[in-house]
Amino acid sequence: MRTPLFNLQKTKEKFRVGIKNTMAFFIKKIGIDLGTANTLVFLPGQGVILNEPSVVAISVPDNKVLAVGDEAKVMIGKTPDNIIAYRPMKDGVIADYRVTEVMLKYYISKALGKWNILKPEVMISVPAGVTSTERRAVVEAAMKAGAKAAYVVKEPILAAIGADIPIYEPSGHMIVDIGGGTTDAAVISLGGIVASTSVKVAGNKIDQAIADYIKKTFNLAIGEKTAEEIKIKIGSAVPVEDELTYKIKGRDFLTGLPRSTDITTNEIVKAIESELREMMKAIKVVLQNTPPELSSDIIDNGITMTGGTSLLRNMDELVYRATGVKARIAEDALLCVAKGTGVALEHLDTYKKSIIAKR
Ligand code: ADP
Ligand code: MG
Repeated sequence: MRTPLFNLQKTKEKFRVGIKNTMAFFIKKIGIDLGTANTLVFLPGQGVILNEPSVVAISVPDNKVLAVGDEAKVMIGKTPDNIIAYRPMKDGVIADYRVTEVMLKYYISKALGKWNILKPEVMISVPAGVTSTERRAVVEAAMKAGAKAAYVVKEPILAAIGADIPIYEPSGHMIVDIGGGTTDAAVISLGGIVASTSVKVAGNKIDQAIADYIKKTFNLAIGEKTAEEIKIKIGSAVPVEDELTYKIKGRDFLTGLPRSTDITTNEIVKAIESELREMMKAIKVVLQNTPPELSSDIIDNGITMTGGTSLLRNMDELVYRATGVKARIAEDALLCVAKGTGVALEHLDTYKKSIIAKR
């Protein structure tokens, strides 16, 4: 039998499904949290629909982008020399605009799906310390990536919005976001940032410290993924009584052969002590630079913590011990910035004072 070149029934069916999807997800607004570790895409009314590592794989000879996000992450560590895995948001700075644009394009078109014909409004979070040139570049990148309008808001403001903090109240609130690349501490009052700082010590440096400790103490080489797993499974910010144990499997430095050994929670606490100290120092500096009237608000309101590294065991306890101020981990700490972009997009009028660049 001859195969028909054109299957009308199938085409009709495809078209119907397409229309249905378009009606159900007529996407007009997209919020994007460009994190150092993960990029999240938030749709108002739907929540976080994409969560992928902030990685781009580039082929060196022709300088071409091969993959973005999950697909690029898989390439890390397994790539031949002529492919590099690039983290454009490295250390919380937008290091390469061309790559940022490619990333934005990837996320926007993935969020829209192929049936969406409308150009969306896009809200993007940027680190509090970006220059005016950088924030304009992000807006331009979003426009080139297909946005109808693009807005940029500082990350601590969005984190606070996502953590349900009433940012326009005349009362001081402190938000501490500890992610992969940076620890950001900020005091917010009346919708603006009163004092803030950002240090390049967070989850990634903690992983590195764990790997270094294991190398030094046990002569074992482990990868960054294993170090992160150890941190999440048994790590803690302060010593504990009931320690957890992790069986490390690595490569012996001397023999080059695989070997395993046990490590416990309080050893990890010791291994990451100086990184934690740096992070606490940043929080204290911001508290010291806060006007006294707002300090008293912060004592009353406590410190709100967001970002993945705030989920390290007993992080709130460590902040309390370091500052004397009560700390709470926000609900959905990993999603606060993304949620904030969605809320700000839905209430543009309320939050327009916090937009620092737009087109
Ligand atoms: P960014 O905003 O910089 O992309 P995220 O807020 O997504 O970063 O946080 C990513 C970091 O959080 C990573 O370093 C990851 O290892 C760490 N992390 C995630 N979950 C946990 C956990 N349960 N305990 C400790 N660290 C965690
Ligand atoms: Mg973040």
